[in-house]
Amino acid sequence: MSKNLTKRSEDYSKWYNDLVVQADLAENSGVRGCMVIKPYGYAIWEKMQAALDKMFKETGHENAYFPLFIPKSYLSKEASHVEGFAKECAVVTHYRLKNAEDGSGIIVDPDAKLEEELIVRPTSETIIWDTYRRWIQSYRDLPILINQWANVVRWEMRTRLFLRTAEFLWQEGHTAHATEKEAIAEAEQMMHIYADFAENHMAMPVVKGVKTETERFAGALETYCIEALMQDGKALQAGTSHFLGQNFAKAFDVKFATKEGTQEYVWASSWGVSTRLMGALVMTHSDDNGLVLPPKLAPIQVVIVPIYKGEDQLDAIAERVAPLLKELRQKGISVKFDDRDSYKPGFKFAEYELKGVPIRLAIGQRDMENNTFEVARRDTFAKETVNADAVIEKIEFLLEDIQNNIYKKALDYRTNHITEVNSYDEFKKVLENKGGFISAHWDGSKETEEQIKNDTKATIRCIPLDAKQEEGVCIVTGKPSSKRVLFAKAY
Ligand code: AMP
Repeated sequence: MSKNLTKRSEDYSKWYNDLVVQADLAENSGVRGCMVIKPYGYAIWEKMQAALDKMFKETGHENAYFPLFIPKSYLSKEASHVEGFAKECAVVTHYRLKNAEDGSGIIVDPDAKLEEELIVRPTSETIIWDTYRRWIQSYRDLPILINQWANVVRWEMRTRLFLRTAEFLWQEGHTAHATEKEAIAEAEQMMHIYADFAENHMAMPVVKGVKTETERFAGALETYCIEALMQDGKALQAGTSHFLGQNFAKAFDVKFATKEGTQEYVWASSWGVSTRLMGALVMTHSDDNGLVLPPKLAPIQVVIVPIYKGEDQLDAIAERVAPLLKELRQKGISVKFDDRDSYKPGFKFAEYELKGVPIRLAIGQRDMENNTFEVARRDTFAKETVNADAVIEKIEFLLEDIQNNIYKKALDYRTNHITEVNSYDEFKKVLENKGGFISAHWDGSKETEEQIKNDTKATIRCIPLDAKQEEGVCIVTGKPSSKRVLFAKAY
């Protein structure tokens, strides 16, 4: 424990990787690009899942589960969809192994070739729309509002724990509607829900917007997104919600009888967030001492560390602490009393700092005599001595205050890292020296977007929803533009 963490200013990337491993969130596995999510990391993911799941259900969605494998022919039914995903598909070709005749070990049995190869789902639109064809006949069957929690596989070449892995956990919503308007409203609603979750649970400010055609999901007519800014000035796509038009309904022949008795294709949306959010959480708040977790997602919100000599003192502290533990738990606050005798208090302090536990209470002999606790907050490291009678109130206040404070800190950072520029020179300078989002006019063409990407590695993160109409000229071509878009280097 308490190994030395690389400083963010020295090597941000290494800091991130070391932190994820040292704080026991996840580690690399024997399979390239696939990670092991450890109990502490998984506990945070479960909290994310619980909050999101509640928000989905409150807006009328239900959970279901679809197969891991997708017949290859399904994937090819929607042309742009297969084109987008073909390059990163894992394909199952055989279903059996056997001993090699020359004794060299286990080999794939060539006689066990699948008649139709199966794709390990990179996303489930195709298998779900194949299913919806059987479920939808009339307008009475609509809307369908389904979400699934699952793992998916995209054969990513450059992977990084949580942020980009070959296998990742996510939720994918797939909805079917009678009208275009309803499907668009659904896609927009989910973007707002993701933003609400990011800001109010993760304490991570996000920009809501739409993707350019180049960055759009393969098979979508519009991709809505939330974009966050990490502490190194790079952007991260934190969630996407797609309006799919009738593309998948046409590809899978999903029609419904309208009230008027005509046959029409069904309208669709899909939306997802993944374990990438874990990476976003780490990169948004944490510091050179370790994780900083928002209280709403911290698996342990309060830790109590006893400082004692001998069993008698520990017993006395345990007795003093027992009613406090009970009351905190009754209030739904997760608290841990760390009475392990095998570690010294200093070691424990460092461990909980590394793990981002929002509030640490310490209680020693003097506190026992004075009926007090030492209360320390992880975000600012501030410490104070609090009377035992006021400690619960203090904890409740701090949980809220830390949540708000880290959000504000992240928001201030982002506000300071959105720079408006009016020339390509300025654009390059800001990108080089400061990073962050760059707000600039763009002529709306793929070619210009491509050129900027090739020149600078910056991409258009989104056309912000709240971008105001403003006469301007493209920083590259000088052609007219009516609003600014956000560029950044991104993960
Ligand atoms: P998409 O289906 O491409 O719109 O992606 C849905 C969500 O999954 C987005 O929030 C992405 O940021 C996230 N995501 C995409 N690829 C990966 C990956 N390789 N690892 C982790 N998350 C991913």
